Amino acid sequence: MLGLGAMAGSLAANRAGAAGQTQGCYEEPPKKLPVRKFDVVVAGGGTGGVIAALAAARQGANTMLIERKGYTGGTATEGGTGIHSFYNLWKAFPGVQKRKVVRGIPEQLIDRLVQIGGSSGYPEQTGRADYDSVATCVDTELYKLVTMEMLSEAGVFIAVNTLLTGAIMKGDRVEGVITESRNGREAIYGKAFVDCTAYGDLCAFAGAKYTEPNDYAVANSVGIANVNVEEYYKFFKRANAVGDYAEGIRSGEENRIIRIGGNLAKASPEFGAEAGKIGMSSVTTTVHDNYFMFIKLNMRLPVSPTDRDEVAKAELELRRRMHKAVLLFRKYVPGCEKAFMARTSPQLCIRRGRLISCDYDITHEDVVEARHFDDDVFTYGFHDSAPRIQIKNGGTYGIPYRALRVAGIDNLLAAGMLITSDHRAHMSTRNTVCCMGQGQAAGTAAALCAAKNRGARELSYADLRKALVKGGVYFES
Ligand SMILES: Cc1cc2nc3c(=O)[nH]c(=O)nc-3n(C[C@H](O)[C@H](O)[C@H](O)COP(=O)(O)OP(=O)(O)OC[C@H]3O[C@@H](n4cnc5c(N)ncnc54)[C@H](O)[C@@H]3O)c2cc1C
Repeated sequence: MLGLGAMAGSLAANRAGAAGQTQGCYEEPPKKLPVRKFDVVVAGGGTGGVIAALAAARQGANTMLIERKGYTGGTATEGGTGIHSFYNLWKAFPGVQKRKVVRGIPEQLIDRLVQIGGSSGYPEQTGRADYDSVATCVDTELYKLVTMEMLSEAGVFIAVNTLLTGAIMKGDRVEGVITESRNGREAIYGKAFVDCTAYGDLCAFAGAKYTEPNDYAVANSVGIANVNVEEYYKFFKRANAVGDYAEGIRSGEENRIIRIGGNLAKASPEFGAEAGKIGMSSVTTTVHDNYFMFIKLNMRLPVSPTDRDEVAKAELELRRRMHKAVLLFRKYVPGCEKAFMARTSPQLCIRRGRLISCDYDITHEDVVEARHFDDDVFTYGFHDSAPRIQIKNGGTYGIPYRALRVAGIDNLLAAGMLITSDHRAHMSTRNTVCCMGQGQAAGTAAALCAAKNRGARELSYADLRKALVKGGVYFES
C-alpha cells in the first residue's frame, strides 16, 4: 500500500512538472490602454512606500500609490517582530545620550497607532542589556487601517489590489507604468517614480541594473492565539533562558509583557530540537492578551525569491512549518494547550529580493564608522546585529540621497530593502524604520523633482534638505 501511495504521489508530481513546462510563445495583440496622469507614482504600498506616498502628497504632488494587496503596510505587518529601531545604540556606550533619531512621518504613524491602542509606543527592552532597543510593537491590523487612513487624508490616490507589471520608457526616463487590476490594464503616467516594491519590480521593468544575492532566509510568520504570554515567560524563566524581554501596554493595561523570547534549547531540549528543524524563532511580540503576534519560521531557498515555482514549493512547506509551530506550543508550553493559528501572511516574506544598483552603495564601513555625507537625507543609529556590530560611539550614520537614486535612470528613486549590497550594512538599512526614513526622503525628493519637471540628479540638495527638515526629519550625527 505504501509503495502504491508513493507511486501515486510521484505520478502526480510528474503531471504537475509537465504542466509547468513552457511550450512555445503566444503573441499578445497590441491593445489601447486607458491613461491616468500623476506627478508622483509610488510602486509598492509597504513599509517604505506608505511613507513615500505620504511625503510626496504632503509636498503637494498629485500622488498615486500602487499596491498589489488589498491593504497597505507590507512586511511591517507581515514579517517583522517589532519596529524597534527608532533610536541610536545608546546602551552599548556608557554615557551616550539616548536619542530618537528617526522622526518625521514614521514617528507620526506610531503616534497615531498609540492613540488608538495599536502600538506599545517606545518601551525599552530589558532582557538583553547589550542590545539597545525599544520594543515598538504594533497591532498589524490597525497598522493597515491607520496607514490607509493617513494616505486617504493626504489625498493619495490609493490603488490597492493593483499589480505593477511594466514600465513605459523613453530613453533613460520612466514615462509611465503599466498596472493590472479588475479595472483591466492601465497606463499610469508620471513625472517622478519611487520603487518601494521590495523586490525592485519597477526598477527591473525600467531596465535598471540589479543582482539577486539570495543571501537571506525567506520566512512566513504566524500569529498564534489562545496562548498565555506569562506562562511563555515562565517557561524560559524556569530554565534561566530568557532573552528578549520588554513590558508595555497590552490589552489596555500598563507593565505587561509585550516582547518575549529566549533560548528554546535551554528551556526544553526537545522543543529546541524540533523548532530548529522548522527554522522557528522563539521571539514574539504582542499588544494583546493571549496572542503571540509574530512567530517566525525561516527557510532557505535554493534560488532568489523572484522564482515563482520555487516560491510555490516554499509556500506549502512554510504552511506546514506554521502548523508544526502551533503543535509545538501546544505540546511544550503550559497555557498553550489550545493554541491555534490566528494570522498568517498572504505570502512568504523576504528580507531581500533584487538588489538595485544606485548612484551610491552604502558600505559596512559607512555604517560602523558613523559616516555622514553632504547629501544626507536622514540619520540612522540602529544595527540588527548589535552588540556584535555597533555604530561608532553610539552615534548615527547618514543615508545619502545618492543611495536612493537608481543608477542609469533619470527619474526613478528606490527606497526600502532593495538597496545596499553589503550584507552587514544591509542588516541595518533594511530595518523597518530605516526603510520608512528612506521612504520619506524618496517621496519628498520625487515631489520636488516633479514640481520642477527635473530629473533626480538635477534636484537641489538645499531644497530637499529644507523640505525634509520641515517634514520633521532629524539630521544630527
Ligand atoms: C520575517 C521577517 C522579519 C523581520 N523582522 C524585523 C524586525 O523585527 N525589525 C525590523 O526592523 N525589521 C524586520 N524585518 C525587516 C523589515 O521588516 C523589512 O526589511 C522592511 O519592512 C521592508 O520594507 P520595504 O518597504 O522595503 O518592503 P515591504 O514592506 O515588503 O513593501 C513592499 C510592498 O510592495 C508591494 N509590491 C511588491 N511588488 C509589487 C508590484 N509588482 N505591484 C504592486 N505592489 C507590489 C508588496 O505587496 C508590499 O506591500 C523583517 C523582515 C522579515 C521578512
